[in-house]
Amino acid sequence: MLYRIETMAIMIDGKELARKVRSDLKIECENLKAKGINPKFAVIMVGDDPASKVYVRTKSKACDEIGVEYEEHILDASITQKELIELIHKLNEDKSVNGILLQSPIPKHLDIDEAFREISYEKDVDGFNPINVGKLLLNQDTFISCTPFGIMKMFEEYHIDLEGKNLVIIGRSNIVGKPLMACCLNKHATVTICHSRTKELKEKTRNADILVAAIGKPNYVTADMVKEGAVVIDVGINRGKDKKITGDVDFENVKEKASYITPVPGGVGPMTVAMLMNNVIKATKNQNNI
Ligand code: NAD
Repeated sequence: MLYRIETMAIMIDGKELARKVRSDLKIECENLKAKGINPKFAVIMVGDDPASKVYVRTKSKACDEIGVEYEEHILDASITQKELIELIHKLNEDKSVNGILLQSPIPKHLDIDEAFREISYEKDVDGFNPINVGKLLLNQDTFISCTPFGIMKMFEEYHIDLEGKNLVIIGRSNIVGKPLMACCLNKHATVTICHSRTKELKEKTRNADILVAAIGKPNYVTADMVKEGAVVIDVGINRGKDKKITGDVDFENVKEKASYITPVPGGVGPMTVAMLMNNVIKATKNQNNI
């Protein structure tokens, strides 16, 4: 008689992998500087959303670590659309700037879609310009938005092959779910994308060899929603009243069932910033024909 030995999931250490990515990028950055090329990254932030402030600080710290020059444009919440677009055009034209990022959210009176469209697709390190989104769908070389790109890097590093796998994503946002769907399809997974109006969600998630949760609801994915031995990726960042961060997955119980799992914090989050830096270096190289 055969007995299955129950083991706990392997932890996908995003913090450590991100450190490795940043350290490789630091070397690339030094090599560029040796050639007289100084990578520069410009961030635009409108208003003073507290969470955005934290994200922007993390990006500036990553730039410092790698050796990328960082330029911050903090605009008053009352800025007009015309003023915002003028700044974007100015940064597009500035040859010393290689990558541009508009930190979201921005105030409601501004049109973020137009702003993303106006960021030159060659400097669009967040991968939100429709040209880059289209290229991703067509499986062409592009800037992949950073959270899905970080998840793909995790799959690669942990030798998780997507070919032919049933991969279920919960969440269809433009930032996570949709670009991740394209990335995984490009790697030959059979992708199902679920959202708030999906019927019989559990039936779909229980069929997933790889399950990605990008919902924004703490501990939403419970063990009964997960197939034995599945790979579980938790994108959620939910801040409790005590400021403690929780993911979308009930980590303690799901880890007993999964084969691989990402923790929160220390999973997808650090990878997002590392892949942003990767895109800044890529943009710099592209713009210098390297
Ligand atoms: P979003 O609010 O834009 O999208 C949430 C998605 O979840 C929607 O598509 C919605 O349909 C779906 N959803 C909501 N309730 C659901 C339900 N009951 N059943 C099934 N689907 C449901 O959010 P987002 O920007 O994609 O972010 C999702 C989460 O990931 C958030 O917690 C966010 O903070 C986090 N996030 C983390 C990173 C990172 O770097 N780790 C990056 C981006 C977002």
